[in-house]
Amino acid sequence: EADIGRIREACPASQFFYVGVPRTLDRMVELMRAGIDVTIQRDEQMAALLSRVLDLVQTQDQERFRVLVVEDSRVAITQIQRSLNQHGMDSHTIPDPSRMFEVLEEYRPDLILMDMYMPNCNGVEATRALRQLSAYQATPIVYLSSETDVGLQVEALRLGGDQFLTKPFNPVLLAATVKTTIERHREMRRASIHDGLTGLLNHTAAKAELDARLAAMPPDGRLSVAMLDIDHFKSVNDSFGHPVGDQVIRSLAWLLKGWLRSTDMIGRYGGEEFVIAMSGIDLAEARVVLDRIRAHFANLPHAHAAGSLRVTFSAGVAAYPYFDTASGLIEAADEALLEAKAKGRNQVMEATPKLPA
Ligand code: GH3
Ligand code: MG
Ligand code: MG
Ligand code: MG
Repeated sequence: EADIGRIREACPASQFFYVGVPRTLDRMVELMRAGIDVTIQRDEQMAALLSRVLDLVQTQDQERFRVLVVEDSRVAITQIQRSLNQHGMDSHTIPDPSRMFEVLEEYRPDLILMDMYMPNCNGVEATRALRQLSAYQATPIVYLSSETDVGLQVEALRLGGDQFLTKPFNPVLLAATVKTTIERHREMRRASIHDGLTGLLNHTAAKAELDARLAAMPPDGRLSVAMLDIDHFKSVNDSFGHPVGDQVIRSLAWLLKGWLRSTDMIGRYGGEEFVIAMSGIDLAEARVVLDRIRAHFANLPHAHAAGSLRVTFSAGVAAYPYFDTASGLIEAADEALLEAKAKGRNQVMEATPKLPA
């Protein structure tokens, strides 16, 4: 513990991981007091450590939190802005909710800090109106008001608010409430669009991302979509057990993350199936990239209790503009994947564009 304390002091901005902690509260608390940030349990796998590191790297390069302040009192505005600013957050202020929808579109806040009493329309009415728009159903809203009637506060929360702070407010508590509410919300959103085993986009989120890419595509743009499926995966599970199967799925996810560009979209489409979208890449280029990954994966040893095994995958790839909808691209890639399976697996097949009649 003394060593941890010394290193901790020398590197105050670093995150410390302690691997191999027994699952007891006392020991975990002891280590955290000594300066450890993350404890990884003795029986957790390496994958747990890797995914924590990845989470951390992803949260550290996050952009500054943006807060929309809807408030008519100049004194309150100054105090709020100072408090948010001192805690590293950006803010934008409007004196009443009338232009709120336009401002939301432009500023895209992570949270709205809403005054209760303003001219024209009060904070609860503005919140109720906002909650009717599907895009803002989940945007966190914190009320900040001199209203001290608990019944009215409860009503305000019931009608769409997330937290209630009263004026006069403590600036440290205000910043902490805003910050943790945004963090929780981001974490929930992250968990709802990512797959738990691999950290890749889940089926729904991957499809939505593909739709978004197609919608933003210039007519002369390039986009290739691939479907991957692990070969004879049932026999991996049957022979070596489900946990080994899970580890193989994770390894493929990590290999894809490592070999593809950060701008490529990777999703876990189903159990042992993955979908990939590569922008700016044509069919022939996509095939080369996928075939390189295929060869690497086929050579990768996967550990099991009695040694190691090799596993392969098959893939089908289809390209825009020969197929120009998300479902068209996915279906075409899927057909090519079936062809790759039929031809003996461990290979990548291109979808043949249907010639116009
Ligand atoms: P093929 O080469 O034709 O794809 O054969 P296959 O055995 O891979 O095909 P099939 O689709 O019949 O089997 C997929 C298996 O993947 C069935 C299911 O038990 C297993 N599976 C699906 N999701 C998971 C998972 O999350 N973890 C593990 N360990 N197995 C999974
Ligand atoms: Mg007011
Ligand atoms: Mg399958
Ligand atoms: Mg399979």
